[in-house]
Amino acid sequence: MSQQKFNQARFEAALTRQWQRAGLASTDEMTSHQWWQALSGALAEMLAASAPAKPAKQQRHVNYISMEFLIGRLTGNTLLNLGWYDEVKTALAAHGRDLSDLLEEEVDPALGNGGLGRLAACFLDSMATVGQAATGYGLNYQYGLFRQSFDDGRQMEAPDDWHRESYPWFRHNTALDVDVGFGGKVVKNSEGRVEWQPGFMLRGEAWDLPVVGYRNGVTQPLRLWQASHRQPFDLTLFNDGKFLQAEQQGIDAAKLTKVLYPNDNHQEGKRLRLMQQYFQCACSVADILRRHHRAGRKIAELPDFEVIQLNDTHPTIAIPEMLRVLLDEHQLSWDEAWAITSQTFAYTNHTLMPEALERWDLRLVRSLLPRHVMIIKEIDRRFKKQVDKQWPGDIAVWEKLAIVHDNQLRMANLCVVSGFAVNGVAALHSELVVKDLFPEYHQLWPGKFHNVTNGITPRRWLKQCNPQLAQLIDDTLKVEWVNNLDALKGLEAFADDEAFRQRFRQIKHANKVRLADYIQRLTGIQVNPEAIFDVQIKRLHEYKRQHLGLLHILSCYRQLRDNPDMAFVPRVFLFGAKAAPGYYLAKNIIHAINKVAEKINNDPLIGDKMKVVFIPDYRVSAAELLIPAADISEQISTAGYEASGTGNMKLALNGALTVGTLDGANVEIAEQVGEENIFIFGHTVDEVKALRKSGYAPLKLRKKEKHLDAILKELEKGFFSNGDKQAFEPLLYSLGKGGDHWLALADFASYCEAQKRAEQLYLDQDAWTSMAILNTARCGMFSADRSIRDYQQRIWQARRSGSSNG
Ligand SMILES: *Cc1c(COP(=O)(O)O)cnc(C)c1O
Repeated sequence: MSQQKFNQARFEAALTRQWQRAGLASTDEMTSHQWWQALSGALAEMLAASAPAKPAKQQRHVNYISMEFLIGRLTGNTLLNLGWYDEVKTALAAHGRDLSDLLEEEVDPALGNGGLGRLAACFLDSMATVGQAATGYGLNYQYGLFRQSFDDGRQMEAPDDWHRESYPWFRHNTALDVDVGFGGKVVKNSEGRVEWQPGFMLRGEAWDLPVVGYRNGVTQPLRLWQASHRQPFDLTLFNDGKFLQAEQQGIDAAKLTKVLYPNDNHQEGKRLRLMQQYFQCACSVADILRRHHRAGRKIAELPDFEVIQLNDTHPTIAIPEMLRVLLDEHQLSWDEAWAITSQTFAYTNHTLMPEALERWDLRLVRSLLPRHVMIIKEIDRRFKKQVDKQWPGDIAVWEKLAIVHDNQLRMANLCVVSGFAVNGVAALHSELVVKDLFPEYHQLWPGKFHNVTNGITPRRWLKQCNPQLAQLIDDTLKVEWVNNLDALKGLEAFADDEAFRQRFRQIKHANKVRLADYIQRLTGIQVNPEAIFDVQIKRLHEYKRQHLGLLHILSCYRQLRDNPDMAFVPRVFLFGAKAAPGYYLAKNIIHAINKVAEKINNDPLIGDKMKVVFIPDYRVSAAELLIPAADISEQISTAGYEASGTGNMKLALNGALTVGTLDGANVEIAEQVGEENIFIFGHTVDEVKALRKSGYAPLKLRKKEKHLDAILKELEKGFFSNGDKQAFEPLLYSLGKGGDHWLALADFASYCEAQKRAEQLYLDQDAWTSMAILNTARCGMFSADRSIRDYQQRIWQARRSGSSNG
């Protein structure tokens, strides 16, 4: 497949149609935002008109179902992938417009929380790029992840109205509408078959965004379902005079896809959330089956042509939904329906944390999906026979493996039992999935479990966000590396090349200046680009340990006050993180970091030696500015809890040195870049387990370590909170009497020592730069293109050789 050529005349004609449609007399009347709108609309029109690429033969179509797609801005990325960036820049310049200015007009579509949603977006980009035929299925939320601001250091949340109704990249195809039922009852019809009679119906509308492969002519859809009512009014109700009841149906529909739930790695058992999940699954399954039938294929052939990859358990209901359609609508036998379904679904696990593993109250599920509960119970009943055979009379094992237990529906269990493949997202994580989470399932079906280490798209996360570094790599390697990231290995030879090192260093510096300007404009804080830029950007979570970062900052500050002339390399500590609105402790950590920042930033004794900046509203477009400017990448989760991380990969690829624990993909980053080119610290997974078993006592540890005690006392005494001793109570409790579950105090000394090593190295700029170059050179395996090829080889194309479900 080859790149589509840019056609200037077609572009100008499409552009003209755009502003004419907007009712404007000429381009002179357009605001910058209208220009962005017209540009994107014109490009979308050109894409829609081009013929779709033919997928490779003998390949199953991948249906990637995810509740979240954190895609970020589309216009610039699409131009880059099309290879039209320079031509469009020139064309717009003739209109007196600067392309990069216009691209800043786009509001991030923030239809995800963090890593999981961003992974889904990277995978779509890579599937299109490697030529894997795929459809992404998600939800078209009216409000994405909330906007964050700070008021006296406290997180404030505002709705994120990203104006989906006027987003120029959407194409709504009314022919793809799906009707979805909820509630009601299950009855036996006249032929004696069970039939679900839903209590009410909603309509799912398909809103497509184009996913463009890197210069290969491929465009495939991200299909986002949006709920609406079937008619503006239910006319029978309307005619009966029951106006309000009729109106009510419309309100319910609009509510369903109104807002993304803002929890990351934490379940909230809300009815509306379950409705979102089912709505998405029902629409997607119907769409997949419709595509299959349209192609003239037999229903039994479904697994030969389609695979459904579940991004975590959020779309699990798709499994019983598929069975329901096959059983009740296609009237297949159980064995036929099961054979099809269990060869079609594959499940990606993203977490081992109990609070994040989805469990649904069975009564709630039954009230919305009575037929699905019957089907789930039948799966469970049949599975129990298998378990009884393997572990006769062992009730404890059954209670662990059952899909329904204690009136709770356990989604991960349903996925493992019903899918043909289960994968973790980094080598260490996949090992723990088998060892700690699903050991008995692994005993039953050893061939079902896989690892596919996550990846990131080098298009957005290097070429687009760090154009100068991309140019340097182009100039140096003189080969296309953007879709062949292993080629970066060629940079190893330049790690000690003085001229290359200098250019590499200059680029990092320029990126730091660009970020410093942004920080100045946004917060009024002036940061020194000569300082170490130390970056911790990710969702706020106890297991990610932003509070460990805070302890290190407090430690530096205290030492500098005690000893103002001590050797200290100036450092800018940068945070970006949103806390779930209901996550009280996470919000307290944000407050603490902000208050500490305020004190330090205004301390004349400290001056430029330390600055602490919490960048508000962390999101993809902010990440694109922060990552190219980072010197240090903070990846400091408690070992065993960060399934993979992908921020770690983005930062290392852009030449930041990692300070990190042996957790998630950090382990593989260390393997790739070499232990000597990364700062590893802290308890390992096994040591974390051993420490907890031996009775970890943070209060004792604190008494022993005078310096640690002193910095915690400053927080307690209100030194950072105008004398308010209660301000950081939740955080201090968790670190003390609360038991410090995440071992921040236990890893503190080792963490500070790793930071010291990093600081020492920074003094030798040549050594530092060589190491940074080696990080970039050796991160090829973290391309999401590699992840997708792993999925193809291990899961999507290897179905028949895997284990059977019996
Ligand atoms: C990559 C990314 C994440 C994931 O970061 P981790 O450090 O892996 O948790 C979260 N949010 C945004 C906006 C990202 O781009």
